[in-house]
Amino acid sequence: MTKDILVIGTGISGLAYAIQVAEENPNVSMVLISKSNLNEGNTRYAQGGIAVVSNFKKDSFKKHILDTLTAGAGTCNPKVVKFVIEEGYDRVRELMAWGAQFDKKRKQLDLAKEAGHSEKRIVHYKDQTGQHIQEALIAKIKNYPNIELLEQHTLVDLITDHHSAEKANRCYGAYVISQKEELIKKITAKITVLSTGGAGSLYAHSTNPEIATGDGLGAAYRARVLMDRLPYVQFHPTALFPKINGHTFLITEAVRGAGAKLLNTKGERFMLKNDPRAELAPRDIVARGIQSEIKNQKEEFVWLDGSAIDHKLWQTHFPTILATCKNLGIHLPKDPIPIVPAAHYFCGGIKVNEHSESELKGLYAIGECSFTGLHGSNRLASNSLLESLVFAQRAAQDSLKALLEKLPDEDFYAAIPEWNGDAYSNSTEIKAIKNHRKNLQEFMSKYVGIFKTNEGLEIAENRIDQIYQAVNNIYNNNKLTYGLCELRNMVSIAYLIIKQSQQITHNLGVFYNHDYA
Ligand SMILES: Cc1cc2nc3c(=O)[nH]c(=O)nc-3n(C[C@H](O)[C@H](O)[C@H](O)COP(=O)(O)OP(=O)(O)OC[C@H]3O[C@@H](n4cnc5c(N)ncnc54)[C@H](O)[C@@H]3O)c2cc1C
Repeated sequence: MTKDILVIGTGISGLAYAIQVAEENPNVSMVLISKSNLNEGNTRYAQGGIAVVSNFKKDSFKKHILDTLTAGAGTCNPKVVKFVIEEGYDRVRELMAWGAQFDKKRKQLDLAKEAGHSEKRIVHYKDQTGQHIQEALIAKIKNYPNIELLEQHTLVDLITDHHSAEKANRCYGAYVISQKEELIKKITAKITVLSTGGAGSLYAHSTNPEIATGDGLGAAYRARVLMDRLPYVQFHPTALFPKINGHTFLITEAVRGAGAKLLNTKGERFMLKNDPRAELAPRDIVARGIQSEIKNQKEEFVWLDGSAIDHKLWQTHFPTILATCKNLGIHLPKDPIPIVPAAHYFCGGIKVNEHSESELKGLYAIGECSFTGLHGSNRLASNSLLESLVFAQRAAQDSLKALLEKLPDEDFYAAIPEWNGDAYSNSTEIKAIKNHRKNLQEFMSKYVGIFKTNEGLEIAENRIDQIYQAVNNIYNNNKLTYGLCELRNMVSIAYLIIKQSQQITHNLGVFYNHDYA
């Protein structure tokens, strides 16, 4: 299959990008692939909303810029911060024109406040913002005849000069598993977009769905694409404890914004001793405050007490949390919610320019798998959906220009070799894979999580070496399976996080090593 554009990932960034291209030029042929169903990915789980300046009487670009730079610990790219924030409202209005609606109060957007924000500026749809956006974008994208949507299709590797006679430092598409057909296909394209999301599944507790295994990052690593700030993994302070059916459920920041307080299991409010902003301090500070408190008590969780929030507000703003807690016998607002911090967001990723293009020509990275410079060492809450929208539009504009340039012809793509057709199996179950995955998640959480030490990083380095050898062995002696494909990427990214963490000798933003405190 040869297309003008191959988009890998159907979260907010991949979908918004494809819609932008199609709106501008309906003749561009595109294929979008998704390793699971179209709607599965981090976007679907976003509760809080999109941070954007829309009430110009009270708020200003300047304030949002300052909040973003402060959260990013002085390491954001100020130029990027400025244009993302200034372009944000136009992108959100576009999103509304495409069918997404947000909660309103007296005909105005109802704006929420989240940690690190100096003003109320989060546009949201109840506590289901991501799901709502995802549904609107999927409904919209199905209207374009030039866009093909392929579910259960998984990126294996990018096609680069390595697979061709060219030495142009370009990307030419990807090899992709078709789970249903049980084979690996070659999809060539003039432009390839990675919008594969994050890698929260590297950790035992993560707010991300299981499929967030850093596949785009793994493929980019094998293609020698430059990445930046991988060790800057943001932990969300408040995930429900324990997991529900193996999934960690998020309690949005907006609950703390609405007045919920954190208590240790003795019932003491502890955040004030960590930061004067207490529960509304930036996420890294709150997550570390909670983790330290957990270390000093017997239980593995602390309480989030939302008793000061009116029941009506729970019903209107947080219906999913209310219902989920009720199912577990937690009756809000009177009962406190047991919570733990959980791996949430990858601030780092594939290094891209202001149009989201990576150093490999023809390869764009958008959304959570990219590093644009917006977040620096720590992401401000609700700035990621914003980043996805702004960079999707910029990448789309740039791609449309790039398609007008002289690019390889059909014969060139046809000459790229196929992947060995029967090299994939759906049915082979390699038991060791599950064990290695669990083992990796456990030691990443223990030694490469919220708190690190040099000794812990060394232990992690030895453990990742062992898993790397074992996985390589499995890879060389078996057909590729879906689980093996994910694990291979997880091992690569865990390795990079550990190695790069060892090179960081000062604490900034979400990165914290006790030896440099
Ligand atoms: C619980 C939760 C709450 C959040 N709340 C907010 C919030 O309120 N505000 C905010 O701004 N941000 C929030 N975030 C972060 C935000 O949701 C994500 O950063 C953003 O949605 C990422 O979008 P994306 O398009 O980059 O990736 P995703 O939405 O994760 O989509 C990734 C896509 O890539 C596909 N994919 C992955 N690997 C492969 C592969 N190998 N082959 C083919 N396809 C592949 C997946 O199938 C999926 O379609 C939250 C995140 C979580 C998990």
